[in-house]
Amino acid sequence: MTRTDGDTWDITESVGATALGVAWSRAQEKDTECPLFIDPFAQLFIDAALERGWRLPPAHMLDRIRAIGGYAASRTKWFDEFFVAAGANGIDQVVILAAGLDARAWRLPWVDGTVVYEIDQPRVLGFKAETLRKNDVSPATTYMPVPIDLRDDWPRALRDAGFDPTEPTAWAAEGLLPYLPAAGQDLLFERISDLSARGSRIAVEAFGADFFDPEYLASRREKLRASQQDGDADDSAFDVADMWFIEDRTEVADWLAEHGWDVAAVEAADLMGRYGRCAAGEVDDATPRTVFVEGQRSC
Ligand code: SAM
Repeated sequence: MTRTDGDTWDITESVGATALGVAWSRAQEKDTECPLFIDPFAQLFIDAALERGWRLPPAHMLDRIRAIGGYAASRTKWFDEFFVAAGANGIDQVVILAAGLDARAWRLPWVDGTVVYEIDQPRVLGFKAETLRKNDVSPATTYMPVPIDLRDDWPRALRDAGFDPTEPTAWAAEGLLPYLPAAGQDLLFERISDLSARGSRIAVEAFGADFFDPEYLASRREKLRASQQDGDADDSAFDVADMWFIEDRTEVADWLAEHGWDVAAVEAADLMGRYGRCAAGEVDDATPRTVFVEGQRSC
């Protein structure tokens, strides 16, 4: 699958379907021995997509998603905690970039008066709204969808939706950056910084040089190929990496630190250890080589 400038997708297609993969993974969490969170909406999205004719990924892909279940759960928990801490520190304006089927606006205990803005492609947010409406589910706080591509003029769309750049904001970018070109990633952070009043916070799942290391990516692809040998011929070509822009990128933590943010970062392995999902240092190859970066705007 080749990505192009300005490509668009529905929830069951291309990059849109990755949001379903994440939702499927979140739906599994309740069946684990010690769930880090419960997302009662994730299964609603899966059921609605299946009704639309979407097929669950083939068994080998589900096995792969399962293999990184501890990673996905730790990631969800970390962003949940980020938002709760931001609220406890007085931030009541939230922007979730590439929100996909993230149900935080419906499931987190938001401080009164919080406004949650979600940005994603129009058909992705449309599917989400329709599914929740059909199931009579209301958001837990004020919810403002901003249906636009993040390569377009989303700051303007965000302001038009009521966003106030003079107020501190809590920003999140989870499962997003590989789907943006390297230049698009740089522009994203420039725009976020321009819109961030002092005291704003940001949480990012960052994909740096370790993640895009050619040897690591080649071995990852090789393992996927091996696991595909028992799969359907139709599905055997599918690899989420085909939707990534594999390019040299700015390291997110460095960029933020150089642009007026106080930064803390934790590697995926250590984060998983913190949540008891994998002892630090015992991470297997399936664990993505990402870094979780948190920043606070100090000037
Ligand atoms: N953050 C969500 C989560 O963790 O549940 C979704 C993650 S999913 C792996 C990737 C999401 O990024 C999809 O919902 C996709 O539509 C969105 N996305 C990727 N590139 C985008 C772009 N250029 N503009 C808007 N959304 C984008």
